[in-house]
Amino acid sequence: MTGTAIAAAFSVATAVAVLTATWAWRGRRRIRTAGSLTAALTAIGLWTASDGLARLAASPAVEAVLHVVQYTAINAAMAALVCVAWSVAEPTWRPTRTTVTRFAAAPAVILALVATNPWHRAFLVPSGPDAASAWEFGPLFWVHAAYCYGLFLVGLGRLARAWWRASWVFRKPIGFSILATLLPVPLNVVALSLPADLRGVDGTPFFFLVTALLFAYVIARQARRRVVPLARSQIVEALEDAVLVLDHCGRLVDANPAADTLLRRLEPALPAGVLGLPAEAVLTDPRLRTLAAGEGQQTLEAAEGLHLDVRCRLQQDSRGAVLARVVTARDVSESVVADRRLREQLSTIQALQERLSEDAIRDALTGLHNRRHLMSVLETTLAERRPVALVILDVDHFKSVNDTHGHQTGDEVLCAVAQSLRAGTRDGDTVARYGGEEFVVLLDAADRDTALRRAEELRAGCSTRPVPVPLPCRSPESGSLPGATGHGISITVTLSAGVGVFPADGADARSLIAAADAALYAAKAGGRDRLVLAG
Ligand code: GH3
Ligand code: MG
Ligand code: MG
Repeated sequence: MTGTAIAAAFSVATAVAVLTATWAWRGRRRIRTAGSLTAALTAIGLWTASDGLARLAASPAVEAVLHVVQYTAINAAMAALVCVAWSVAEPTWRPTRTTVTRFAAAPAVILALVATNPWHRAFLVPSGPDAASAWEFGPLFWVHAAYCYGLFLVGLGRLARAWWRASWVFRKPIGFSILATLLPVPLNVVALSLPADLRGVDGTPFFFLVTALLFAYVIARQARRRVVPLARSQIVEALEDAVLVLDHCGRLVDANPAADTLLRRLEPALPAGVLGLPAEAVLTDPRLRTLAAGEGQQTLEAAEGLHLDVRCRLQQDSRGAVLARVVTARDVSESVVADRRLREQLSTIQALQERLSEDAIRDALTGLHNRRHLMSVLETTLAERRPVALVILDVDHFKSVNDTHGHQTGDEVLCAVAQSLRAGTRDGDTVARYGGEEFVVLLDAADRDTALRRAEELRAGCSTRPVPVPLPCRSPESGSLPGATGHGISITVTLSAGVGVFPADGADARSLIAAADAALYAAKAGGRDRLVLAG
């Protein structure tokens, strides 16, 4: 290669490196990796410049000085490239002060070693006796090379691990970065194995420049893509719902202001910065922790009066690996309270409805079934042709009870009769107030003999039940009233009854009632306080 060609190639490479470094430096506020990239490109620029100049140097003294610059720059370029690769692999990673100090220490050592090379000749060794001879690599050079390859492997390892863990969306740029990192290796291996006199064709710095440029391309693309997540994150920030993002290890990696406020309301003792903390430290409520560990939805009362609708969704890549868990929580206290109130109202309405429908078939005074219900049961029973007997009972001389003791006492007598009838009936029987002081009992599955026996028991049962009279008697003659005996504090009434048996005494409701009514009429006519069987 001619001197002019060398000068041109190295000048162009240096210019490209410096210009790209300037671009990276200007974007340092926007692009987080820009610092490391600037350092890498600057170092590579120094490397190409010093390497080019060293090849053209006329004097061995100048060449030795340029070697100092060149090897220091190589070392610095490797350290900076590792940082760039690491940042691409883990976008949240930043070189700490300690990392920077350590990476800066190595170039300083190289600087010292190469600067003192004329004395120890352990880094670069002249291949011939004269000063213009080419250089062979000394043992310290190989230590330096091993160190550079070590750094190189660290960066490559980070990228490979990130590629393996990343979802397919992020794999492409990482894979591209791995190829960019590997690019100069074969060339450098060949160059290192060249004899000293052929060393002039070593193009390693150019390939490292290409590596750095490829990284710059990946970083620029990543930065452009982050414009969208930025807008999205602003939306998430503004959401009233709490949004928490936990990474695959269960650490909190994002929380919008609503989430921060909610977490502090649930646990006021939370530290100022919650990002990076494990889920157990942030979600103090075990129910929330359980929910965040899986996937699903639950409405729970997280604090007194604070009802949350909590949902957890897994973000997975195409292979099903969990990338993150997104937990959202919405305050649904108002709707829960409204819902509870509505449910209470509904159950009140339901109870009222039940009461109304019950009232519709009940007699208000005695609580027995009313005539309407009786007729409906009777119609059904007869339609099914089940054996049944119908008993009509009428209080004897009830008008006199009202006249003598007052209407209210009359009511109490009716209630007492109703209670007595109810006590004497069995499951399947129906007792109803048929009219004023008339009652009807349907005796289920009763033939004539049974009906006779049971109807008489019912009728007689009422007569033996004294009714206390709380009010003073209106008439001193009350004791002489037929059928109602006043004993100062209680009265007793008698009942007359008529019995009709289905189907013998009536094949339908109307004729069965008429038959029983006729029997009742006969009982009244026969002197009352008795029972007459129809037919
Ligand atoms: P009988 O022995 O012939 O049946 O004579 P009675 O007096 O019982 O019959 P009557 O039909 O003459 O009188 C029935 C009375 O029942 C008239 C009415 O004022 C009274 N009565 C009807 N419904 C009620 C009520 O709900 N409460 C009260 N206290 N009295 C009622
Ligand atoms: Mg009557
Ligand atoms: Mg009567």
